[in-house]
Amino acid sequence: MSNPVPPAVWSPSVLTRTPRPRDPPVRRRTLGTTYDVIGKERPMSRLSYATAGAALAAACLGAAAYAQQASQPPFATTKVDGTDNVYVFRYGNHQSMFVVTSAGVIATDPIGYGRPQAVVTYVDEIKKVTSQPIKYVIYSHHHFDHIAGGKPFKEAGATFIAHKKAQERLAALKDPHTVLADETMGDKRTIKLGDTTLELTFVGLNHSDSSIVMRLPKEKVLFAVDFIPVGSVPGRAMIDSYPIQWEDSMKKVLAMDWDKLIPGHPGAPGGRLGTKQDAQNILTFLQDASAAVKAEAQAGKCWDPVEKEMKLPKYESWPGYEQNLPFVLRRYCALWGRGT
Ligand SMILES: [Zn+2]
Repeated sequence: MSNPVPPAVWSPSVLTRTPRPRDPPVRRRTLGTTYDVIGKERPMSRLSYATAGAALAAACLGAAAYAQQASQPPFATTKVDGTDNVYVFRYGNHQSMFVVTSAGVIATDPIGYGRPQAVVTYVDEIKKVTSQPIKYVIYSHHHFDHIAGGKPFKEAGATFIAHKKAQERLAALKDPHTVLADETMGDKRTIKLGDTTLELTFVGLNHSDSSIVMRLPKEKVLFAVDFIPVGSVPGRAMIDSYPIQWEDSMKKVLAMDWDKLIPGHPGAPGGRLGTKQDAQNILTFLQDASAAVKAEAQAGKCWDPVEKEMKLPKYESWPGYEQNLPFVLRRYCALWGRGT
């Protein structure tokens, strides 16, 4: 796949744009989102001035977050606050949940794409916490960056579970590094192991066609990967996504009973867990981006004018904005400008 990020034409930001008072402002408003068409050189709006401070703060925050990421250890195992049995295993920039029960361990995504040692480490980290056997590995969805590398879990005797769509994909691709599931599920499955209940729910198409959410009803913890980024703009998550149905699946997740969200990548800032507000923010972002691109697409502005010129300044303080916005605009141009 070619790199869809356009070159330096993207670089002008609200911080570097020079006010040009002689030109009339170009301002469009869609569902609360204002975006600029920089090809028409517009003066910096009041909104832009107001958000420049926020952008500066975010830039500082981003630098701090980057410094933290650069200096953080390669992996970490962290117990989720308020629980005595739910853990987050982070390796690099990927995360997985595992749950220790009185009758064994339920692990999730192996996160071993291109780095088999990560999975050996994952199993070792579980063994440091408990002597219970690893009973299950549950795949969040079919993308290799989250589920490749499961062999050490297989050798430990775990039963692999995936959504049936994930299994179809894996069976077709035959990736040598990705273990096929032993069991598949459709819309719902509940795993009871020892004193723990884990609900697996397919909430419809979103970031992929095989994403399931894993909910611990007693602990009120949710593990959902890639379709609810915590505190940042979605990027590559958009590539093979289903934008319209994604909004519906977000509403289903918001209607569930949970307090803490473990994301598949560390939340921003500081690797935090997510809240329902984070999930609502992503839903609002998707709705705003969709509506903004829809209007332009139906005016014949997809692909180039939208991909190269559209901005969503409401979100410019979010980490990943500059880097990820092109993925978002391209996906919605495909939807509204091409019918894809
Ligand atoms: Zn993914």
